[in-house]
Amino acid sequence: MSDLNRPQAPPPGLPIVLKVGSSSLTHPDGSVNQPAIERVAEQVDYLWKAGHPAVLVSSGAVAAGTAALPKGPTDTTDLQVAAAVGQTRLMSYYSRVLPSSGRQVGQVLLTVDVLQTRAQYLHARGTLNRMLEHSIVPVVNENDTVAIHGWKMGDNDRLSAIVAHLVSAGLLVLLTDTDGLYTADPRSGEGAPIPLVRHRDSILDKVASGAPGPVGSGGVGTKVKAARMAAWSGIPTVIAPSGSLEVIEAIIRGEPTGTYVVPGRTKLSAWKLWLAFGEQPSGTLRIDQGAVRALVSGGSSLLPVGITHLEGEFAAGALVEVRSPAGELVGKGLVGSGSEEIKGRIGKRSTDTGQTAEVIHRDRMVVLLVD
Ligand code: GLU
Repeated sequence: MSDLNRPQAPPPGLPIVLKVGSSSLTHPDGSVNQPAIERVAEQVDYLWKAGHPAVLVSSGAVAAGTAALPKGPTDTTDLQVAAAVGQTRLMSYYSRVLPSSGRQVGQVLLTVDVLQTRAQYLHARGTLNRMLEHSIVPVVNENDTVAIHGWKMGDNDRLSAIVAHLVSAGLLVLLTDTDGLYTADPRSGEGAPIPLVRHRDSILDKVASGAPGPVGSGGVGTKVKAARMAAWSGIPTVIAPSGSLEVIEAIIRGEPTGTYVVPGRTKLSAWKLWLAFGEQPSGTLRIDQGAVRALVSGGSSLLPVGITHLEGEFAAGALVEVRSPAGELVGKGLVGSGSEEIKGRIGKRSTDTGQTAEVIHRDRMVVLLVD
């Protein structure tokens, strides 16, 4: 078991996922910041030479393509058009500066629902891992032109956690334009840096409510979500400032750098990761303390008798959150019946209603609260 009180050097030979945001790669006018791209290439090269096959998750497509639209993007479709233009610009830079020491570069465009469809998941996993075996550097971005939710800031943070899961990374590195996480917005003058934090620590909930940055960056909220997602795959995350090779060298030596997020011991399967992080829940079920115990310690399904309130309107099969009386997130799952039917069963024993016992079957639920 690793020491939970200090950052760990990533285990030798394991892949590392490096994520760089739009604001670190483009100038405010959207043009590609060539020296910044060269520095990223240097960092990726260093990781490979240090024995860690590295995957680069690079944002910047939308920012780099915005200038192609005379009036700037006016809606989601325009943003998707900008991404189509900008992605080729980014790749043309990467394919000039990344190949070195006999390594090639390959573009991988994914959507965050890749965890949801088993065949897609297996193909993405197979391709990424084979690229690493062949010493081909995957440069990953979200496939913005087909992403069904349109373009959302911060999706690349989540995507990088998914990629870390797909390649069974030893570490996820989220490079950003701050020095890591702070207990409060550092601009307020009150925040203190957080050098190390456990992924379930409640300070992260407070930190996560921070606002997004101006260009493409999803802000600290999406970094925290990504770090938690990686943690549920057993992968630690470092959130550190972009732009310097020394930062990457220090991370590889296991020296305190930015914020190190310590994972727990429990790992989720791809399907449960998707349940936990893949989609916005359509409603909330509040449950009593007895039901919390039954889910967290008893491995049970959620029964109507334990439900106290229902919020939202949803159909059978929808993803909902399950919360404790104190409002803590206990887990998420797919309901067996719609909100109207569940309302009529709240607090009732199934013998009273004669209907299928559970509201959420255990196999269709992920429990995120741990004893
Ligand atoms: N995929 C977007 C882009 O390349 C970035 C999304 C994000 O910043 O998370 O522009």
